[in-house]
Amino acid sequence: MTLLDGKKTSEAIQNEIAAEVAAIKARGGKVPHLAAILVGNDGGSVTYVNNKVLACERVGFGSSLFHYDESISEEELLLKIKELNLDADIDGFIVQLPLPKHIDPEKVLEAVDPQKDVDGFHPINVGRMVAGLPAYLPATPAGILQLLERYQIETSGKHCVVLGRSNIVGSPMSILMAKNTYPGNCTVTLCHSRTKDLPYYTRQADIIIAAIGKPEFVTADMVKEGAVVIDVGTTRVPDASRKSGFRLRGDVKFEEVAPKCSYITPVPGGVGPLTIAMLLKNTLSAAKKEVYA
Ligand code: NAP
Repeated sequence: MTLLDGKKTSEAIQNEIAAEVAAIKARGGKVPHLAAILVGNDGGSVTYVNNKVLACERVGFGSSLFHYDESISEEELLLKIKELNLDADIDGFIVQLPLPKHIDPEKVLEAVDPQKDVDGFHPINVGRMVAGLPAYLPATPAGILQLLERYQIETSGKHCVVLGRSNIVGSPMSILMAKNTYPGNCTVTLCHSRTKDLPYYTRQADIIIAAIGKPEFVTADMVKEGAVVIDVGTTRVPDASRKSGFRLRGDVKFEEVAPKCSYITPVPGGVGPLTIAMLLKNTLSAAKKEVYA
């Protein structure tokens, strides 16, 4: 069994990005700039956004964080998005989800200029991805593709079973794994909460990508010998022994599943670190005008 080291892979990608930024600076080019909008003080969201800003600093990007109180109106938020769309110094920006209940997330995501939508959540980027046109890919599925590629895992002709159909992970993952590319060319089954006899599908899988947010849902009896298992799940479970009071649990019962696998991601240290690396990669692409020439 080989452990897919997301931390090491993420560091390698970030080093490549940093080298490219250094070269851009050396020739007097424009330094990539990522902005983030954060609304409210949800613990998870604050940590995620701070990590993104720190990652920008590490690779030499400019970064801006706009942190608003929960009471910000939808109108004010849309105005800020308009301003960032027009700001030539900002190559890409993200609006951290979830948003407070009084703000419509669809409206907000659609207000972002697709050319600056480095999260890849705008319907235009989703549509371009489905159509096989250049697009910003959502960071988590793109990170999983990088992991498969950098570990040279064969995907062509394999049966890939994706658990979960969210817009940010499961659905795009299923589309990307079915594409006529590498990684890709899989026969894909997409399972969700209405799937009948889900283990029937996972037992046939050469590759399982679990993104449901149910700790230790995937057990050894659901996995075939030699499978590749990618665990996207990161659920906070209480842990009094930790300073934070919680720890992260994946969707896979790692101890019993790992011995059956050819490759498996740990949680933490698997898919998570790649998500930030891919956001930086999208921002670099935005600065280089690679997607929308
Ligand atoms: P989500 O929007 O809550 O979607 C969960 C999906 O799982 C839904 O499609 C749901 O089905 C399905 N599901 C729930 N219970 C199920 C069950 N018992 N059997 C089969 N399917 C079930 O979640 P998400 O945003 O995609 O996130 C999934 C997990 O990945 C979470 O733990 C999240 O924290 C983690 N995550 C990690 C990263 C990272 O960087 N590592 C990034 C994003 C998300 P229905 O559609 O039928 O409701």
